[in-house]
Amino acid sequence: MAEAGEPAWRGRQVAEALYRQWVTDLDAITTLPVALRRRLAESWQVGQPRIAQAFISQDGTERYLVEGVAGPETVETVWMPEGDDGEAGDGSEEEGKSWHRATICVSSQVGCAVNCQFCLTARLGLQRNLTAGEIAGQVVAVLDRQGVAVGKERVNLVFMGMGEPFLNYENWMAAVRLLVQEVGISPQRMTVSTSGIVPGIERFAAEPPELRPKLAISLNAPNDAIRSEVMPINRKWPIEAVVDAVQKVRLRSRERITFEYVLLGGVTDRPAHAQEVARLVRRAGLPLKVNLIAWNPGPGVAYEMPRPEAVEAFRRTLAAEGVPVYLRRPRGRDIYAACGQLKRTVEG
Ligand code: SAH
Ligand code: SF4
Repeated sequence: MAEAGEPAWRGRQVAEALYRQWVTDLDAITTLPVALRRRLAESWQVGQPRIAQAFISQDGTERYLVEGVAGPETVETVWMPEGDDGEAGDGSEEEGKSWHRATICVSSQVGCAVNCQFCLTARLGLQRNLTAGEIAGQVVAVLDRQGVAVGKERVNLVFMGMGEPFLNYENWMAAVRLLVQEVGISPQRMTVSTSGIVPGIERFAAEPPELRPKLAISLNAPNDAIRSEVMPINRKWPIEAVVDAVQKVRLRSRERITFEYVLLGGVTDRPAHAQEVARLVRRAGLPLKVNLIAWNPGPGVAYEMPRPEAVEAFRRTLAAEGVPVYLRRPRGRDIYAACGQLKRTVEG
């Protein structure tokens, strides 16, 4: 509003309308004089990203293709009314109605440049960064659709949709500020996942605690050799460099780092791998938990799903080694569960 030559309190009125009342167009912001609304309409886009398509799973999960504002491309946003037993259902939550622990999975970029071999989003390449408004706007659009009472009903956010948040750091963090300060969601209910972008982790470590989400690292392999195969980014920032950077994050009391571990059949799911992960975790010396995720298959990706016995054996080995371990339940298997798969399937 300052840029538009208006007093700062006009900005507060717009923020209130967009992030608390969830208005979808400029004319609904009746606190602004009509002449100002006209003038803003000429050079600003004010409103909500549009949910262009919705896919509803039998398990209650809803996946959306959400249209950007700064460009026509869509991204995937997911509503999981009962969480996924990963970030939301790991025992740190109180029991209650499924509703009270819903999780929204948010995208940070259209596509991704990181090139993890098992990931469908990688196949899109990086098309563009989302703006802060587009990232926060995905959340507002879903809260609005679901009629969530923020502050009364419990919603968790996971930045685990399309894209690498730490390669769109400025916009992503600006979105976090909007979500905390304007929408009113606690950063302790938010988890950001990174493939291990070390400079990003270091910037993240310097964020003020009252704005900092929780951190998840996509480990996904038991050692550098295998990790470099499945996540070529590991050649730039190997496991030890990532762990060193994570150690700079000053954790809140009882806070833990999440290590995500995608189980690829025959590649990362062997009993010896579980032992290696346990040793790695012990060496890291961090308060952490491991979230196991059975790989979601998708067209054109030449991996295999882990066998259920292998998943269970992996989990049991880590648990026996004293590593806190959770199995992320697959959600919405019937509606293109692998991130990136929906967009690729629907849009060809
Ligand atoms: N770019 C960030 C966040 C988005 S990916 C990151 O990589 O961490 C979120 C999580 O989904 C990551 O842990 C990633 O390893 C995992 N993932 C990607 N594709 C998957 C698939 N097909 N099946 C299961 N997990 C997948
Ligand atoms: Fe990008 Fe994450 Fe997919 Fe890797 S797993 S390609 S970092 S979205």
